[in-house]
Amino acid sequence: QCAAHCPVGAIYEKDEVAAFQEAVADPEKQVVVQIAPSIRVGLSESFGLPAGTVTTGKIYAALRRLGVDAVHDTNFGADLTIMEEGSELVHRLTKGGALPQFTSCCPAWVDYVEKYYPDLLDMVSSAKSPMQMVGAVEKTYTAEKQNMDPAKMYTVAIMPCTAKKYEAYRDESMRSSGYQDVDLVLTTREFARLIKATGIDFLHLEEEAADNPVGEYSGAGTIFGATGGVMEAAVRTAYHVVTGKELENVEIESVRGLDEIKKGTVDFDGTPVRVAVVHGLSHVAEVLDEVRAARAEGKQAPYEFIEVMACRGGCIAGGGQPYGATDVLRTKRAAGLYSDDKQSKVRCSHQNESIKQLYEEFLDKPLSKKSHHLLHTTYQEIPVYKA
Ligand code: SF4
Repeated sequence: QCAAHCPVGAIYEKDEVAAFQEAVADPEKQVVVQIAPSIRVGLSESFGLPAGTVTTGKIYAALRRLGVDAVHDTNFGADLTIMEEGSELVHRLTKGGALPQFTSCCPAWVDYVEKYYPDLLDMVSSAKSPMQMVGAVEKTYTAEKQNMDPAKMYTVAIMPCTAKKYEAYRDESMRSSGYQDVDLVLTTREFARLIKATGIDFLHLEEEAADNPVGEYSGAGTIFGATGGVMEAAVRTAYHVVTGKELENVEIESVRGLDEIKKGTVDFDGTPVRVAVVHGLSHVAEVLDEVRAARAEGKQAPYEFIEVMACRGGCIAGGGQPYGATDVLRTKRAAGLYSDDKQSKVRCSHQNESIKQLYEEFLDKPLSKKSHHLLHTTYQEIPVYKA
C-alpha cells in the first residue's frame, strides 16, 4: 500500500531480488515460482507494451530462463480459494453462521479489519489467500506427487503487492505444510528489474506453458486480479453448489468497473443472494459501519457476501505494480484480465480438472479436516495504540 501511495516514491518495497538469485544459484534448493493473476497484465507496461497486454506465456518462459525448477500459477490457488470460500459461504447460508461473509484474500484488508473492526472478524472467511494456498499445496501434494523434498523446496510468489511480503510471515498458520509455505515474495517491479538485469529479451520470448498440476486454471481464477473478480468467481461456483446447475451467463456485470461500492443481487434459483464489492480502504468504513449497526440491532445487514480489496481497482493497481496507476490504466489492465477469462475454455473454478484431482487424491473435499489445516487460517484483534 505505502509504496503505491507515497507521492514522491520515497517509500518502496524491501528489495529481495538478491535472495531470489541466491536461491536459484544454490544447488541444494529447488525453486518453485507462482505468479499472481494481475502480474500477467501488470508486467507488460514495464517492457513498453500497451497497458492490459497479457503476457502469461512469456512470464513462464522468463522464469525458466532465470533458472527456476518449476513454474506454477496463483490462478490455480484462486480456483482453490473459491472452492473453499464458496463452500464456506454455502455452509453459512444453509447451516447458519455469521453473515455477511467477507472475502479474505487481501492481507491489507485483513490487517485493517483486525485493527479497526475486530468485532466483525467472525464474518471474515477463514480461507487463506490463493498465494498461501499454493505454497501449502506445493510443499505437500506437489512435493509428494513429483518426488521433491519439501525441505529443499524454495517457494517464491511474484505478487502485485507489498502487503503480501507481510502476509507470508504473518503467523504460524503460514507454516501449515510443516515448512514455510511461501518463502519469498517479489513484487511486479522487482520481477521486472530482475528480468532486465539478467539481460533476458522479454519481448521476443516464445510463450511457454506452466507446470502441472499447479499450472492449470479457469477464467474465474484470472479475474481475481480486478475489483469484483473474487465475487464474480465465487458466484459462478456457489451457484453451482447450491442449485446443482451451471450459470447460463457467467459474466456478472454488476460487480465490474471502478464504482467505489458496487451492489447487486444474484438469483440462486429463487433464493436472492445480495452482494457488495468495495475497493480502496477509504470506502470500506461505510459498509462496515452499516454491518456493525445492523448487528447491534440484532439484524443482518442487507448482504450475504462482501468482497473487499484495499487497492483502488483491486490487485491490478496494487502497491507492487508499475508506478503511476490511473483509472485509465486500471480499466485497461482489468480489460486484459476479462478478455483472458473470455478466451478460457474453463471459466468456473469447480470445473478445473487439476482442482478436482487435488480433492480426489489429497484433500478429500472442500472444508475437510485436511483442507482446514492447510488452507484456512484464523484472525485476531490487533491493538491500535493512539498517541
Ligand atoms: Fe495487495 Fe492491493 Fe491486492 Fe490487497 S488489493 S492483495 S493490498 S495488491
